[in-house]
Amino acid sequence: MIKKNMYINGEWVPAENGTTRTIINPFNQEPIAEVAEGDETDTQAAIHAARSAFDQGKWRHTPAMERGKLVLKIAELIERDQRELAELETLDSGKTLTESLDDMKDIAEVFRYYGGLADKDGGEMIESPIPESKSKVVREPVGVCGQITPWNYPLLQASWKLAPALAAGNTLIIKPSEITPLTTIKVMELIEEAGVPKGVANLVLGSGPKTGQLLAESHSVDLISFTGGIETGRKIMTAASGNFKKIALELGGKNPNVVFDDADFDTAVDQALNGIFFHAGQVCSAGARLLVQESIHDEFIEALVERTKQINLGNGFNDSTQSGPLISKEHRDKVENYVQVGLQEGAKLVAGGKRPETKELQDGFFFEPTIFTECETSMRIVQEETFGPLLTVERFSTEEQAVELANDSKYGLAGAVWTTDIRKAERVAGELRMGTVWINDFHPYFAQAPWGGYKASGIGRELGKQGLEEYTEVKHVYENTNPSPLHWF
Ligand code: NAP
Repeated sequence: MIKKNMYINGEWVPAENGTTRTIINPFNQEPIAEVAEGDETDTQAAIHAARSAFDQGKWRHTPAMERGKLVLKIAELIERDQRELAELETLDSGKTLTESLDDMKDIAEVFRYYGGLADKDGGEMIESPIPESKSKVVREPVGVCGQITPWNYPLLQASWKLAPALAAGNTLIIKPSEITPLTTIKVMELIEEAGVPKGVANLVLGSGPKTGQLLAESHSVDLISFTGGIETGRKIMTAASGNFKKIALELGGKNPNVVFDDADFDTAVDQALNGIFFHAGQVCSAGARLLVQESIHDEFIEALVERTKQINLGNGFNDSTQSGPLISKEHRDKVENYVQVGLQEGAKLVAGGKRPETKELQDGFFFEPTIFTECETSMRIVQEETFGPLLTVERFSTEEQAVELANDSKYGLAGAVWTTDIRKAERVAGELRMGTVWINDFHPYFAQAPWGGYKASGIGRELGKQGLEEYTEVKHVYENTNPSPLHWF
């Protein structure tokens, strides 16, 4: 059994009160690790370490190129250990090993991208309107950053925060979801191996209310970056107001996938499946709301249902598995409950809707890929984030109606449009109120492009150069090159 501690001020330490938590494999509920279970005391120690490392340490004055080299070194170490990391991620989250291996490649690229970007913004001179003066604008690290990550993409979400924070010269405390901490712990070992100075990167383990909440509240923390659900996001925002710390929130989504009748039919069917059922729908940008043009609706649903019934659920370590279990019993209960909600609301269940009967899957938190048709935009199953393998289907007639329906949501994370009429695609993309719009594709994201939401899907952006800027303060330095008295007083 794996046994792991927290990383505070360059030391691997157990929880001050000695508590541990057992981490289980969602495929079969077998214990896989025993990790320290910290609380407010441990979090306070980590904040203190990060504060001292920022205020008294050399990190923020280390040349950006040197910081960049360290971040690039972490990318190399992640690549070196990608197999071990991917296996840990599959054990901890149930996702297929192929997905986990792809995640690790993406994660190494995120570190590589920010390592390369670290020294590229040297500030700029601006034209001062005042004679005999100089004006320059520079970016500086924000300070101590609290980082809170969810369980669906444990290390990927962590990498979007760790890499830019380090590249920009901040110190940090990261708190992964209490149920999926293993890969974040391993990467902290790699951060140590790369030679990041002690106190710069700290890891606390424990429940959100006991550890994450303090990161959001503490007046010694300058920035809180959170990825998770909207209710927790609201608590973080309130807690962060105590010292007006900077906040970055990556929240949920209920993402429309709009298919016009002139789309490439087979590709749109195939990608609609991927849009919703990839990683059992536990993706913030899952295409959980399918909007299909009336004229192809019935044919489209028939093809979709037929292929949905063939999805192979199983152990993430088996090559033939296409989708693993949900993360926990509580989460499966939540998804299961939404099936009842859909039925009560009058939607038509055309696929799934229950736990699989296969004997080998009984110990895992599996749920069949589920499709509801005849959905109305006002229904809860259309408006609320299910975060599971549950697709709702609505019909539309015109382009205007498609846009109106797609935008009728409190969320605004991502959406897609499928059509061979590229002018129409661009018009619709321009009208969608979302942080990411895909044309004739679903799900691509990469380190170079910003990621984040409109409306209740969040505040700020991760990835891209914007993701680095989130971890900087902007300073204007003005110099009078010929100082003389004003004689005003
Ligand atoms: P969650 O319940 O909100 O938890 C997210 C993180 O917040 C976990 O580390 C959790 O710790 C912690 N937390 C819980 N209560 C807290 C509190 N009072 N103060 C501070 N931290 C607290 O979300 P989840 O169920 O893990 O993740 C699923 C959600 O994340 C979905 O809504 C999904 O859309 C969203 N998500 C968004 C993006 C994006 O890029 N926009 C990406 C991925 C996921 P514990 O787990 O230890 O309780």
